[in-house]
This record gives sequence, C-alpha cells and structure tokens, in this order.
Amino acid sequence: MNGPVPRPGVLTIDAYVPGKSSAPEGVKVWKLSSNETPLGASPKAKAAYVAAGEKLELYPEGSSSALRAAIAGRYGLDPARLLCGAGSDELLSLLAYAYLGPGDEALYSEHGFLVYKIATLAAGATPVAAPETNHTADVDALLAKVTDKTKLVFLANPNNPTGTYLPFDEVKRLHAGLRPDILLVLDAAYAEYVRANDYESGLELVATSANVVMCRTFSKIHGLANLRLGWMVGPPAVIEALNRIRGPFNVSGPAMAAGIAAIGDEAHVAAAIAHNDRWLAWLMQELTALGLTVTPSVGNFVMVSFPPEPGRSAKDADAFLTQRGLVLRRIDAYGLPNALRLTVGPEEANRLVVETLKEFLTR
Ligand SMILES: *Cc1c(COP(=O)(O)O)cnc(C)c1O
Repeated sequence: MNGPVPRPGVLTIDAYVPGKSSAPEGVKVWKLSSNETPLGASPKAKAAYVAAGEKLELYPEGSSSALRAAIAGRYGLDPARLLCGAGSDELLSLLAYAYLGPGDEALYSEHGFLVYKIATLAAGATPVAAPETNHTADVDALLAKVTDKTKLVFLANPNNPTGTYLPFDEVKRLHAGLRPDILLVLDAAYAEYVRANDYESGLELVATSANVVMCRTFSKIHGLANLRLGWMVGPPAVIEALNRIRGPFNVSGPAMAAGIAAIGDEAHVAAAIAHNDRWLAWLMQELTALGLTVTPSVGNFVMVSFPPEPGRSAKDADAFLTQRGLVLRRIDAYGLPNALRLTVGPEEANRLVVETLKEFLTR
C-alpha cells in the first residue's frame, strides 16, 4: 500500500526559507536578514501584550473587531471592509485558496515576494511570472502575461527583495488593463517607509474599485513580526468570501491588543521612519561609493549586487560578513544569485556592514 499523497502542486513547492540568524560562536550577531525594525516594538504594544497574557485560557474575540475599529479609525476606513490575519502571509494564502484552483493562473513580477508562488501552488493553480525592467515591476510585461485563465495578480509595492516601487499612475494603469473578474492584490508591507510623492499604498484604489485589495502588516514598521499580525482592506464581497474560509480564531488576543496599541503609538512609528530615512540614504550612498551596485530602495532594506567573479561574489561577501556576525539575506531563491538583501539596522550595524564590505573588497 502506498501512503497518503498531497494534492498535485504541493510537492512542487520549495518551502520558504526564512532569513538566517546565526554566526560563529562568540561573535555578536546582527540579524539584517528579515527586514525587522531596529527600534523594536512600541513599549505600549509590549505592555498591552503582557496584559493580554493574563487571560490565556479564553478564546479571542473571533472577528478582531476592536483591532479593525482601531485600523479603521487610523486610516478612515469602514471596519466592515477589513479582515485581520495571522500575518499578511495568512491573508495572501486565504486569497489564493478563495480565488484560485486547478487551471487558474496567478500573475506576479519576476522577482516578486516568494509567498505569491507558494500560495498559488498550494491552491493547485499555476504561477506565472512577468519579466521586470531594472528590477522593477513592468506594467506592460504584466499585462502581456494576462490570459483568460488569470484570476489573481499579486503586486508587492514596494517590492521585497528589490526595494523598488511602482508610482500610483502605474498601479492605476495596471488595474485599468485587468478584466473586472481579476483580483488585484496590492501588498503594501513597507508602505509606511515610503517617502515618494508619487506613491500610494492602495487605499485609494481599493476605495474606488470592486476588484482590488490591499494587504498590510504589523511585522515591519510596527515591530510585531513575532506575534503574526496583518490586515487587509477590500470590497465587501472579497472580505465576505475570506471570512468563510479563515480559521474562526485566526488572530490571538495578545496580538490584537499589541496591534491596537502599536497603531496608536504614532511617535514610535515616526521614530522608525526618521531612523530609516537617515540610514537607508546613508547605506545607499556608502555602498555605492564602495563601487557596489545598489538598487534604489524605498523600503527598510536595500539590494546590493556583486560581480559574479570568484572571490568577489555575493556568496563570498555573505560568507565574509557572516564571519563578522553580519547576517544578510541571500536571494538566490528570488532568481537573484548575485545580490544580497540588507535590512537597515541600528547605527552600529550599518557602519559595521560598510566597514566590513570595504575590507572584503580591498582584501
Ligand atoms: C514581510 C512581508 C510581508 C509580511 O508578512 P507577515 O506575514 O505579515 O509577517 C508581506 N509581504 C511582503 C512583500 C513582505 O516583505
């Protein structure tokens, strides 16, 4: 007798490999591999989390209504159009399960966030990648890949791991080129960090369309990655569909409490933005000055490309940095074997990365 076999597609998935966090023993480790905030979570969020820990025996409120009310208040949204999840990863998976099945296609850009491919294959559907231009999503290339089987289009804006973004005009042009039965998923995990006048996270497009959703996360600027918390805004019909298939208690009480406090702590968010503005610019400038190729980023991380020569490659640089406790992200799985992704860290780590890469390049 043969054993149980998963549905087709499942075994074609390469499991997501999170950013590593180890270095040689005795060396201080700087984890710059997962785009976590160097400022940590808001003290108010931590206090709310601890207080919620007093009632671990009770099931959480199942619709995240207090958290939805807080998000709705902050962004001027209708709480009925919001859905919360265990990280935006859960929401991306729910979207795939609700809207994709065998024979359907989901479209994303070549170096788009890996979860899109995983969620698509897990739903039994076919992932389709469109080429990028200058490591940036290309609206014409995406539209050229739309077929009558296309059901979902995922767009990380800004994108991880490249750090590039599409201006609002381009997102609107993408949307205008999609049939009304295709759902456009805008993943704005890094929206708070973006300082570009022509950027729009998706709030406006969601408000004016029946086939657009936007996902946001508490993992990045709010520093709650460990709690698993994300939210989505979309048309009532989409929210209603996902509410049918999600777990009944998909968000924990401590996560909701921390999320409400985090969203209320605007000073903490402002401090994180200010830190990122300063050090993202500094890192891009210093790394470029070292002769490395830096893709202009609007997120809290930057993609650095290396020549594919033995001794100077991204792989060699990664090994050199890791020896010094500097843990960056290899992005081979994104089809970018000649680059590393570096998260903007605390000042000490940022300076150490630049010093260490200088040493690597001149040794
Ligand atoms: C980090 C990240 C997320 C957020 O994931 P969570 O599950 O909310 O932690 C979503 N999309 C992109 C592009 C990301 O980089």
